Amino acid sequence: MFQRTLFSEEHEIFRESVRRFVEKEVTPYHDQWERDGVVSREVWRAAGEAGLLCVEVPEEYGGPGGDFLYSTIVAEEMVKASASGPVFHLHSDIVAPYVLHYGSEEQKREWLPKMVSGEVITAVGMTEPAAGSDLQGMKTKAERDGNHFVINGQKVFISNGQLCDLLVLACKTDPSLGAKGISLILVEGDREGFSRGRNLEKIGFKAQDTSELFFEDVRVPITNLLGEEGRGFIQLIEQLPQERLSVASRAAQVMESALEWTVDYVKQREAFGRRIADFQNTRFKLADVKMQVMVTRNFIDRCIIEHMKGGLSAEDAAVAKLHATETVGRVLDECLQLHGGYGYMWEFPIARAWADARMSRIAGGSSEVMREIIGRDLLREDG
Ligand SMILES: Cc1cc2nc3c(=O)[nH]c(=O)nc-3n(C[C@H](O)[C@H](O)[C@H](O)COP(=O)(O)OP(=O)(O)OC[C@H]3O[C@@H](n4cnc5c(N)ncnc54)[C@H](O)[C@@H]3O)c2cc1C
Repeated sequence: MFQRTLFSEEHEIFRESVRRFVEKEVTPYHDQWERDGVVSREVWRAAGEAGLLCVEVPEEYGGPGGDFLYSTIVAEEMVKASASGPVFHLHSDIVAPYVLHYGSEEQKREWLPKMVSGEVITAVGMTEPAAGSDLQGMKTKAERDGNHFVINGQKVFISNGQLCDLLVLACKTDPSLGAKGISLILVEGDREGFSRGRNLEKIGFKAQDTSELFFEDVRVPITNLLGEEGRGFIQLIEQLPQERLSVASRAAQVMESALEWTVDYVKQREAFGRRIADFQNTRFKLADVKMQVMVTRNFIDRCIIEHMKGGLSAEDAAVAKLHATETVGRVLDECLQLHGGYGYMWEFPIARAWADARMSRIAGGSSEVMREIIGRDLLREDG
């Protein structure tokens, strides 16, 4: 594999500290979290203390003021250790930018330091039972009543839904305006009328809590509005390149780790008096996997560079997500196959990665939605 050129010496020192953190604070507890269906609050506090959360938040709001590469490193090290439980990337790469870019000074001062320290765990509530890809169809309403919004509705599939102390909630503030009637509102987890439904049972990401959320006459002050009223859809779209790149970059790491696990496995396992590694089929399959890993890794690294220069378009981010998440599915399937029956056993990292990765073609914009974005752009009349 090529030596990656993205990271400085400081980044590599940080990587080492993340690795040690994962070994000490995550790996020993992960099986228990899988059984519980949720991680502990303590791991969030520990991650905050270790400087792993919201690494891009500037110092004036309590953060280290790092760049996106630091976030990438946290995500990569978590993937390497099969630590899919703590959804730090959602909190750091999705929610923190909403607050940082659209929040009022007061909101930033109130929430960002607590998000950096892990005292406050966050979530994003967009999807509803009848509106996922088509967010314009959402029904959750926030109606003005004096100095308050009164929120009624329901969300589903919300990561960190059980744990969250603060939610960026997408609501219709003017249902007559379609996309232009959507606003983002901060909702605290202890507001009266807000309740958490089931922690949903999933086929992967067993240690992540994913929930239904209910809002019944939840009153929040209008100062909880994030940015301008009616700009929610645009805000969501503006933040999507980073969200999709973050998914793609994790998928690239999953592939690379799967290749390593599989190479190790086939060198040890024997059949018909030979190592599995000694079959030509194995060499060919692994060669194909390596090809996919290298091409994906280099492409995604290039996208990260573009993103850090501010130039990653929504269409290119869609290509990154589509390519990485479709490829990781095929790669994991081949790698699992080379593990035989053991590959199907939960105790093997390849089994967990295979189940977890299926979600990446659905959430954060499905593969079909990515194809729509890319295809529409290609065929634009003014293009
Ligand atoms: C584990 C997990 C965690 C999640 N976490 C969160 C979260 O934290 N917050 C949140 O808000 N949401 C979350 N989601 C929801 C996720 O973003 C949605 O599932 C996703 O956007 C798809 O929406 P949907 O499930 O309603 O599918 P639908 O929109 O009903 O789509 C069904 C199928 O139709 C296809 N389709 C839809 N539109 C088109 C089209 N125009 N052209 C062609 N095909 C189309 C889709 O690609 C899909 O194959 C999570 C989901 C999962 C599985």
